[in-house]
Amino acid sequence: MQKTLKIAVVGSGLVGSLLAIYLKKAGHIVHVYDRSPDIRKIEFSGRSINLAMSHRGWKALDAVGIGDEVRTIAIPMEKRAIHLIDKLNFQNYGQEGESIYSISRGTLNRKMIDLAEQAGAEFFFEHKIWDVTLAEATLHIGEEERGEWKAFKYDMVFGADGAFSRVRHRMQRQSMFNYSQEFLNSGYKELNIPANPDGTHKLDKNSFHIWPRGEYMLIALPNLDGSFTCTLFMPFEGENSFASLTDRKSVEAFFEKNLPDTIDVIPKLTEDFFKNPTSTLVTMKCFPWTYEDKVALIGDACHAIVPFYGQGMNAGFEDITVLYELTKKLGDDWKAIFSEYETLRKPNADAIAELSYRNFMEMSSKTADEKFLLQKKIEKSFAEKHPEKWLPLYDRVTFSHRPYSEALAIGNHQNEIMEEIMKTPNIETVWDSPEVENKILDLLQ
Ligand SMILES: Cc1cc2nc3c(=O)[nH]c(=O)nc-3n(C[C@H](O)[C@H](O)[C@H](O)COP(=O)(O)OP(=O)(O)OC[C@H]3O[C@@H](n4cnc5c(N)ncnc54)[C@H](O)[C@@H]3O)c2cc1C
Repeated sequence: MQKTLKIAVVGSGLVGSLLAIYLKKAGHIVHVYDRSPDIRKIEFSGRSINLAMSHRGWKALDAVGIGDEVRTIAIPMEKRAIHLIDKLNFQNYGQEGESIYSISRGTLNRKMIDLAEQAGAEFFFEHKIWDVTLAEATLHIGEEERGEWKAFKYDMVFGADGAFSRVRHRMQRQSMFNYSQEFLNSGYKELNIPANPDGTHKLDKNSFHIWPRGEYMLIALPNLDGSFTCTLFMPFEGENSFASLTDRKSVEAFFEKNLPDTIDVIPKLTEDFFKNPTSTLVTMKCFPWTYEDKVALIGDACHAIVPFYGQGMNAGFEDITVLYELTKKLGDDWKAIFSEYETLRKPNADAIAELSYRNFMEMSSKTADEKFLLQKKIEKSFAEKHPEKWLPLYDRVTFSHRPYSEALAIGNHQNEIMEEIMKTPNIETVWDSPEVENKILDLLQ
């Protein structure tokens, strides 16, 4: 137990609600504010946005004893199902028995708010934070930005208020605060594959489905009710773009030509396409993340990344794991805890931002490229023979707790080795030979 403090968490999203559970278990008084209504009381909108949870996320949930409860609402995806125009390939994830897990964001968030309340955290919904007095850990809350605000003083404030954080906004106005924000030229739109009439899934339930098509791609993750949530990632402008799909006819023609096996399984294609918004994708970096022992940013509020490694929430949950480990090491010295927290996490947040950006290319283009698939096959076969010498990059990011920055550095080195290996004459026929294996061993020296 730590010395009891009065702590405010701004944001009841996935990171804010999990952080509230941790802080309550450490013995603090915890108030969580969110500008939105209580999502547990909102009528289900019919849309089910889902996320992939992997090792880092599970570790943070297990450490406070809620992993098993969350597992009851998760579907394991043990492989990628790669839908090419004329065939379907499967590629197993990780080692035998390793999976990533599809979870509905809404269901998970509702469950975590319930669990945080049971742990004793108090939630204040429809409370908009407009400003923070950093040195006083004081929140300024009101209906309107230009209206009247009330001040609420705390011992400490956590900004878990997402990529467009208001808490960060205040920190940005200090000198020596670094900040960058970059939007992708591609955005995304969600579509839906409903369940069969008997409630079963229309596609393989335990796969992460991808339709890689170069500059754009479609993915689909399974839901518990038999449906899949699909996400179409695509440039805003250009030949194959959201700008080029302006009416029913153009959307239908595009899907018939480029994603023919989805036609039968997405019955409300054009209805959903024009009803659902087209959303943007942003990478946001900043530093520092803390102010003395008073204010700290966490989750997307200090490191928003593009979603192509499925790590945004996982990285936010890992922030909490690191904070928790530091409280065990440093006790009540919050100044030291915050300082080590931001120093440890910043290089890892930058690394996963870079890896996520690169993975867009890998998922959308390279999974359709025979040479790339052969490279992955060679890596996998070598890793099986020499597990102590080679863990593939995806596994290092997804099925490990080692730092993201280490995964990036080792991944870069492995890539250089594989570039050499792929130059081997007739690699398509000799890929499984002792010659190739020995060459990798030599290059690893
Ligand atoms: C298309 C897409 C797919 C993704 N897929 C994955 C995936 O597969 N795996 C994965 O790990 N991650 C994924 N992510 C990333 C993940 O969604 C985020 O990293 C995660 O939701 C961040 O959680 P958070 O709690 O930090 O922020 P948020 O979820 O953004 O929550 C912030 C909360 O703060 C509240 N708030 C904001 N401003 C204020 C204010 N001024 N006053 C009061 N309250 C405020 C908001 O209402 C909100 O509830 C994906 C993201 C996208 C866009």
